Amino acid sequence: MSNLEAMSPDPSPNTDSASPSPAGLPADPSDPGAHEPTAIASGAAANDTIFGRILRGEIPCDAVYADDLCLAFRDVNPQAPVHVLVIPREALVNLADAGRQHRDLLGHLLLVAAKVARQEGLEGWRTVINSGAEAGQTVFHLHVHVIGGRPLAWPPG
Ligand code: AMP
Repeated sequence: MSNLEAMSPDPSPNTDSASPSPAGLPADPSDPGAHEPTAIASGAAANDTIFGRILRGEIPCDAVYADDLCLAFRDVNPQAPVHVLVIPREALVNLADAGRQHRDLLGHLLLVAAKVARQEGLEGWRTVINSGAEAGQTVFHLHVHVIGGRPLAWPPG
């Protein structure tokens, strides 16, 4: 593993107080992170994935970045010249498994995704998070795909 540089989570502004509602929209008192976890969403399940084994050092990976909250490594089946996965160290199945307690962690994963993309020399890139088998998720430990290095078509398949 080389060129690893720790990135501390930025102190986040206090967003707990209600923010002003956009013009024309009623204030939404609901919390997008407040919900019951889905049946599939279970941190224990995420521990048992191949990514859990990578985090525990049981199988190798081609790491490009690591810090106390996450690990980024190259996808074994790259879909583009650059294809990196950013995963939290915390066992989290997917976004359906995330609650308000993961707000800072989710922001951190996206900042790391951008950092890794720049580190790989990308000026433009795509970030993808598949949530659920229906969306194409095959490894049930949350991961952010960082894909780039070639023109990317839209919409995705
Ligand atoms: P998803 O389909 O969104 O769940 O993505 C899972 C990704 O993990 C796929 O792109 C796989 O190629 C990748 N993958 C599976 N096993 C490994 C591994 N041992 N090391 C790196 N990437 C992997």
